[in-house]
Amino acid sequence: MRRKMAAGNWKMNGSTAALSELTALGDAHSDPKCELLICPPATLITAARNTAAKQIAIGGQDCHEAPSGAHTGDISADMLVDAGASYVILGHSERREDHNEGDSDVRQKARTALEAGLKVVICLGESLEERESNNTLDIIGGQLAGSIPDQVTGENLVVAYEPIWAIGTGKVPTLDQIGEVHDFIRARLERRFGAGIGRSTRILYGGSVKPTNAADIFAVSNVDGALVGGASLKAADFSAIITALEDA
Ligand code: PEP
Repeated sequence: MRRKMAAGNWKMNGSTAALSELTALGDAHSDPKCELLICPPATLITAARNTAAKQIAIGGQDCHEAPSGAHTGDISADMLVDAGASYVILGHSERREDHNEGDSDVRQKARTALEAGLKVVICLGESLEERESNNTLDIIGGQLAGSIPDQVTGENLVVAYEPIWAIGTGKVPTLDQIGEVHDFIRARLERRFGAGIGRSTRILYGGSVKPTNAADIFAVSNVDGALVGGASLKAADFSAIITALEDA
């Protein structure tokens, strides 16, 4: 059985004052029926680990592909571990766009992160143009093949399907569209890694998940939880999404 997961990506938001949201989240979910993960900005990882209750995992939002070295401004996987992270998000579409990251960069980062002992949340997603030209499954299949390294297991890999056009826009694919892509990702994982890893890997949906649409999305086949941006910043909103996941 896959343990469902609610993951929050705070992106470039939050200062120490935001840590009170983590406290509120831990108080509201002292014994959650799903795994909880919050990925704050790197500056807050240690404080978040020290503040958050144990049932909330803390993650980074990116790491460098090299284990260390002359890379001004970058953060290594070992540094994330040292700061208190147990997960890292890789290949988010904002990293792919803002920093020109391709599938092979994401794959190398993932390899380095796994070697450091981190679990990885690898993001895949099509643009609106790719969706409208009926290329979604080709794009997702290519990103999956190119971004996920061979070293993964069902425990250290989480895949997030995040259509780029749904992130932060309030637009959400239809439930059929979400189900089609999640079923496709499951089939590709099983084909590449075998039934064991293929069936135990969590596949999250991300893109404008809110308390109002979460229950419908969580009822879709092969949706094992959500990667949530905007609605993870406030404990009350994220808590409602967690409750919808626990009830799914
Ligand atoms: C995200 O950035 O991963 C995301 C899903 O953002 P939002 O929930 O705000 O659309």
